[in-house]
Amino acid sequence: SPTFDPHTLRGDFPVLERTAASGVPLVYLDNGASTQRPQAVIDAMSDCYQTYYANVHRGIHTLSEASTDRYEQARRSVTAFLNAASSREVLFAAGTTAAINTVARTWGDQNVSAGDIVLLTMMEHHANIVPWHQLAERTGCRVVFAPLNDNGQVDQEQLDALWQQHGARIKMFAFTAVSNVLGTVNPVERWVRQAKQYGAATLVDAAQAAPHMPIDVQAWDADFLVFSGHKLCGPTGIGVLYGRESLLESMPPFLGGGAMINSVTTEGFTSAALPEKFEAGTPPIVEAIGLAAAIDYITDVGLQRIHQHELHLTQLAHQALAEVKGLRIIGPADPQDKSGIVSFAIEGVHAHDIAQWMDTRGVAVRAGHHCAMPLHKDLGLAASTRASFYLYNTTEEVERFVEAVSEVQAKFAPKGRRRRPRT
Ligand code: PMP
Repeated sequence: SPTFDPHTLRGDFPVLERTAASGVPLVYLDNGASTQRPQAVIDAMSDCYQTYYANVHRGIHTLSEASTDRYEQARRSVTAFLNAASSREVLFAAGTTAAINTVARTWGDQNVSAGDIVLLTMMEHHANIVPWHQLAERTGCRVVFAPLNDNGQVDQEQLDALWQQHGARIKMFAFTAVSNVLGTVNPVERWVRQAKQYGAATLVDAAQAAPHMPIDVQAWDADFLVFSGHKLCGPTGIGVLYGRESLLESMPPFLGGGAMINSVTTEGFTSAALPEKFEAGTPPIVEAIGLAAAIDYITDVGLQRIHQHELHLTQLAHQALAEVKGLRIIGPADPQDKSGIVSFAIEGVHAHDIAQWMDTRGVAVRAGHHCAMPLHKDLGLAASTRASFYLYNTTEEVERFVEAVSEVQAKFAPKGRRRRPRT
């Protein structure tokens, strides 16, 4: 079937059984920030700690070999998950933020100089803005933002114009596959093809894509792709930096220390081969094993089915929220252009008041700028409220969410003012 019944999965997630502080059943709609974990992930991690944990790579003893096997097996799981050509292209990092910083520091410092341009979009998360601002401080390059249209998508004509205007001066196009605020799904393959015509490198921020839809790095053809474990039912403290092998080979290492070296002398060092070259120090061993269990879990459910399920929930939310007075959904009007993210503002009501009231109803949503201040400035908003769905969310939960939003509107929105006639 194209979708599935989320009720059959909920029992896999122990935390979903609890109530909110107000004593009512929890409706967890903050998945864009971080998801919950199924028992299978918790078990995989505690099994490691309880039965075979040791440091990897350096040991010749039984436990170290067992841990190394499982750690490298996790790398092969991620390789298959992304359809990467080789597991040498899959590097474990602390998360999306660490992965983008690594690319900016290594590939960026090596390939970008004064007068060059790093192209971003106006819907980027701060994790895909600040490392490039820092690169600009170091090198004198410029960071340029592709503007959005009124439908919360990058304006393709204006993007074309930027490429025509700046051409080969653009050295990197770094963009999110799915906006963490608008839910917009971006045309990754098209944008990568366009960047290649001008000889630019590409980095895809897949933090909001990898958990929710199938990814194929060979079809997408991007040079770098990054995501975090904690947003796809996995542990915190781990993420992935996928990089094209030829690029990773030519890049200098970022962090120096143990494991990333071939040899060290009093004069200097030589780097290890991929992937160790970019994995200095003791890696997140148990987290990698947990991430592999999370990937197994969501792959068993099916990424295409997860995407369809979330689209269905988004559709229901869009329809129902259209009835709430003074409410503006930000992002694409058509749920078909989106992922399972619904952000909105209510005229005259602060986003923090909305989220606080919703919490009394057991509904967990996020309020603020969602680490996307340039986007909010562009939208003319100080803050927004975001509901973000995942595979365990149900239509009943969407109904409880909408009910709570209606209550907020009735309770907090300014009343009794006569509409001024429009002139
Ligand atoms: N990019 C996007 C699109 C995100 O949604 C997030 C997390 N909110 C990040 C980057 C940063 O991820 P992390 O905090 O796991 O490093």
